Amino acid sequence: MKRIRSPKKFQSLCLSLRRGGKRIGFVPTMGFLHEGHLSLFRKARRENDVVIGSIFVNPTQFGPREDFDRYPRNLKRDCALLAKEKVDWLFTPNRDDLYPEGYQTFVEPGALARGLCGRSRPGHFRGVATVVMKLLNLSLPSRIYLGQKDYQQALVIRRLVEDFHVPAEVKICPIVRASDGLALSSRNSYLSPEERRRALCFFKSLGTAKEWIGNGERNPRRVRAGIRKILVPGLSRVDYIEILDARDLSRIKRISGRIVIALAGFVGKVRLIDNCVLNVPG
Ligand code: AMP
Repeated sequence: MKRIRSPKKFQSLCLSLRRGGKRIGFVPTMGFLHEGHLSLFRKARRENDVVIGSIFVNPTQFGPREDFDRYPRNLKRDCALLAKEKVDWLFTPNRDDLYPEGYQTFVEPGALARGLCGRSRPGHFRGVATVVMKLLNLSLPSRIYLGQKDYQQALVIRRLVEDFHVPAEVKICPIVRASDGLALSSRNSYLSPEERRRALCFFKSLGTAKEWIGNGERNPRRVRAGIRKILVPGLSRVDYIEILDARDLSRIKRISGRIVIALAGFVGKVRLIDNCVLNVPG
């Protein structure tokens, strides 16, 4: 695997690959890779001629009081993991490469970005949409691979690709979990062993909610209240518990069709998210 830092050189490389008829599979990440990330790279490897990843902790998607400075980083380890997955190229720009002095253009996503994490993290999806637009224009992928773990983010990016006529296919891949059910996340590395045990309440509450719905419960308010009871003892603060239409994140009065249960909350000082998408009959 080769590493490349300069956006110009990276774009020339991708242009010449596309001109040579290669299909590029692209996986954007913020690094500190785990099996969740690697599952995206493996799928990209199966479906494309060339696999390209990026590692960039994007400052514009972090709020002023968020964890940008202490976000976990280990480029050496990440490179070794990606080389093992037979990734061809890794783009690792630094901040000034993507946001040089005088930079002033941003992508503003719409309604999809307003609720859930968009409400608790103002400006977050503006930063995400902006950096992803840049990465798409540089990597010129045939397919871009995203995780369902960040469900709202995946929908915002799918919309961005559609709205800006980006000629790439968006692939949303399943959540990879630890054997006890905790959704893998780079931020799990912040958790003490005791906090990690408490974080399991996300997975537990999703499983229980699934059971209730399986047994015929169709009232979102009751399911949300039940989830809250499971989350409250484990979390220092619940951020949101939402049951929404999985296609556009709009509110629903009754649980039916394709729905997403989306959760966010703090374990100690660490903010975690989780979700599940269900196809509910009638
Ligand atoms: P990040 O490095 O957190 O920005 O994540 C990069 C990509 O990996 C995003 O598309 C995430 O949704 C995806 N991802 C993160 N965690 C997981 C997971 N546990 N399972 C599947 N995909 C994931």
